[in-house]
Amino acid sequence: MYSEIVNTIKGLFPKQDFVPLHAPCFVGNEKKYLNECIDSTFVSSVGKFVDRFENDMAAYTGAKKAVVCVNGTNAIQMALMMVGVERGDEVLTQPLTFIATCNALSYCGAHPVFIDVDRDTLGLSPVKLEEWIQEYAELRDETLYNKRTGRRIKACVPMHTFGHPVHLNKLVEVCNRYHLKLVEDAAESIGSFYHGQHTGTFGEVGVLSFNGNKTITTGGGGMLLFQDEELAKLCKHITTQAKVPHPWEFVHDHIGYNYRMPNINAALGCAQLETLPAFLEKKRELAAIYKNYFDSVGVEFMSEPEGCRSNYWLNAIILKDKEERDSFLEYTNAHGVMTRPIWQLMNRLPMFEQAECGDLSNCTYLADRIVNIPSSVRL
Ligand SMILES: *Cc1c(COP(=O)(O)O)cnc(C)c1O
Repeated sequence: MYSEIVNTIKGLFPKQDFVPLHAPCFVGNEKKYLNECIDSTFVSSVGKFVDRFENDMAAYTGAKKAVVCVNGTNAIQMALMMVGVERGDEVLTQPLTFIATCNALSYCGAHPVFIDVDRDTLGLSPVKLEEWIQEYAELRDETLYNKRTGRRIKACVPMHTFGHPVHLNKLVEVCNRYHLKLVEDAAESIGSFYHGQHTGTFGEVGVLSFNGNKTITTGGGGMLLFQDEELAKLCKHITTQAKVPHPWEFVHDHIGYNYRMPNINAALGCAQLETLPAFLEKKRELAAIYKNYFDSVGVEFMSEPEGCRSNYWLNAIILKDKEERDSFLEYTNAHGVMTRPIWQLMNRLPMFEQAECGDLSNCTYLADRIVNIPSSVRL
């Protein structure tokens, strides 16, 4: 059966000896804008493409304001800082995520608390979140504390796995009830909508990534989506060395960061954003073909959650058990089709094995069974 799956995938991506998981696609104005950018000499941290990319992205996502960042990981760090996460705080998140989520909160000196995901979204479960809070946390003066560690619990960071939105309405409700700041790790979900609203715009801040393997790319890059214009302004200031505007003096009024996205990367981003709607159509078309095929051979395919429109960044199948997963990975990678298991659970990595955890039965089940299959835009 594995050989049939390999042939089917190769048939979907013809003329490739090795089918990658996700290759970037440049078919629009990329070269034109890059040339313009080089001719202007403004290739670095200021320029018209930076402003345009921020404005276009805010318009596309419906965010009040968008702020570019050097990459998605540092954008999450900034987002957590902007909502007031401080050294020693705890942040509620899912262990089924890419390492960047937990690295970013660690840069803030915060500790992760790992909450299970839902089977139908692969993302943070609002029900499990509330269960954990009711058992292990307490509200004092509108601030949530971990009863065991005594630490303040400041924020909640769900991640929209492979572009599938988490149950956002319920999650917003739980966060509001317990005075938690909601920061969405929407790094994988550009072009994904929950009941018509773009992911990354439900909490105080949302974060996108434009790394080379994401749905659209700037080479490397990230973005913060804000609902609060003042907070966005402060973020822009702090990510640009906190330099106070002056005709010649070097005045800085905060510890700042050099987290700017260069104009040349933003030029690439502007062109990529123009082609995003076409990419999304192609990706949904591929997901539909996969769904049909895997249904016909009795393999579970990960479909978008109810009420959502996923970008289908990476398609995923859920195999019977770890043994089947391992033999599938072995066979496909040896036969010219790149496949990958889902990430190892964060609570199993040495840096986070001391972290507080809720019941993680869905994560444990999924971590042994999910495999990503080739998902590039097909031309
Ligand atoms: C890609 C990604 C990020 C950000 O990654 P960068 O490479 O730093 O842009 C963050 N979180 C998740 C879940 C991701 O997949």
